Amino acid sequence: MPELFIDGSWVAPAAGGTRTITCPADGSEVAVVSEAGADDAVAAVRAARRAFDSGEWPNTPSPERGALLGRLADKLEAEKEQVARLEALDTGKRMVEARIDMDDIIAVFRHFARLANADAGRVVDTGMPDVRSRVVHEPVGVCALITPWNYPLLQTSWKVAPALAAGNTFVLKPSELTPSTSIWLARALDELGLPAGVANLVLGPGATVGAAMTEAPEVDLVSFTGGLETGKRIMAAAAPTVKRVALELGGKNPNVVFADADRSAAIDNALTAVFLDSGQVCSGGARLVVEESIHDEVVAELVRRAELIRLGGPFDEEAETGPLISEAHREKVQRYVDEAVADGARLLTGGAIPTGGDLARGWFYPPTILDGCTGEMRCVHDESFGPVLTVETFSGATPDEAEDAAVAIANDTIYGLAGAVWTQHAGRAERVAGRLRHGTIWINDYHPYVPGAEWGGYKQSGIGRELGLAGLEEYRETKHIWHNTRPAPAGWFADR
Ligand code: NAD
Repeated sequence: MPELFIDGSWVAPAAGGTRTITCPADGSEVAVVSEAGADDAVAAVRAARRAFDSGEWPNTPSPERGALLGRLADKLEAEKEQVARLEALDTGKRMVEARIDMDDIIAVFRHFARLANADAGRVVDTGMPDVRSRVVHEPVGVCALITPWNYPLLQTSWKVAPALAAGNTFVLKPSELTPSTSIWLARALDELGLPAGVANLVLGPGATVGAAMTEAPEVDLVSFTGGLETGKRIMAAAAPTVKRVALELGGKNPNVVFADADRSAAIDNALTAVFLDSGQVCSGGARLVVEESIHDEVVAELVRRAELIRLGGPFDEEAETGPLISEAHREKVQRYVDEAVADGARLLTGGAIPTGGDLARGWFYPPTILDGCTGEMRCVHDESFGPVLTVETFSGATPDEAEDAAVAIANDTIYGLAGAVWTQHAGRAERVAGRLRHGTIWINDYHPYVPGAEWGGYKQSGIGRELGLAGLEEYRETKHIWHNTRPAPAGWFADR
């Protein structure tokens, strides 16, 4: 069966293209899938338009829309192991992480299942007894959903769940590198009886398929998760038809450690912050900003622990993290490290591609630590999206000056996705959290999130929010309805 899902049918690409998906851990073939062209994307967008304009889904009662998402969560729960395996093979990540991703995705579907009939609108008091004024929410229309490769189904669930809960129709384009779980999702929605044309899936490269979706005049909203440069191109492509755009872009996230922090918790979490999923996490804590007085001790321990981290493929029970997604991505990471060293950073560990044993078959890169970094270096202000930690220090003649210095360094970035502060001083923790210009701040923690809380970026990390209640509102239009129950001439113009 071909893998494009357009207007309720599984169809082959008009031009008959295919793509071989390989596992980044060992280069083995995972699948050969259909590869769409721009024409297929346009056909999918038109199907979604018809399903929105004349189909039943936008007018399906919201509790029923929520119930479908609940059944989708049940289905994923039942098929969790199989779907986790698909995700692990596409991305190379360990099964244990893929299973955690599945649990997160189930929670996301359940969250939006609950929200589907929440916040239906509100009545506005006009002060006029004969006027009923109310604000109602409606679906925004046809959504183009474009997702990245690092958390393929999770990032997709953040978009598909609210889009369906709010009554929209959509065309989904996952990363061309990791399509398998999006195919599972489209099959699941088909089996659950979603009307034809509501959910459409096209697979293929961003430059052709993605661009056709963002340019199509029939699309009302583009929701994109991916890199900053792609985000800029998408905004520009959406501008001529003034589409709504929701952007979840990159981050260069500071992890600020004060001298009074719980040292062992801060060090252990600093490793997870940056090396989880081999650094391929948009909110990864790739910038350690540490108080000078504890720098030597913290960095020595980080190096010791980083060298203990075991790399391996999805089914290696001993492995603690996996490969990078592709050879091209690994080359990019290596360039960042080489350039940092040339700029004066001190390479303390890592920094070289493994050449022996099983690791040589995949796109592995070792946990890498660069010390003596400054904000001018590209490795500090640009997203390498690999297992590379840069270390910057701060100090001050007084505690307040040290705090100011830490905040200045942590905010010195064009990004603003996430960050953390480690201190046992409650007042300092709150003050610093309040001053950091990032969309998520962890105090004495790193990485956890819940579907009930909004996620998104300040500055060039994006526009809009996913999850929470705002994550549903992205997919809703707001309409004001004014009803005069006692019509009368306005009398503004004289009746001559
Ligand atoms: P990418 O920008 O290369 O690609 C993302 C998606 O956009 C893919 O599906 C790709 O095919 C598509 N695309 C590429 N060019 C396009 C175009 N011109 N028009 C339309 N679509 C196009 O990103 P990536 O390498 O897949 O993912 C890594 C990036 O994603 C990192 O920068 C990371 O920080 C970011 N990310 C952000 C979040 C977040 O929540 N903010 C979450 C995950 C990943």
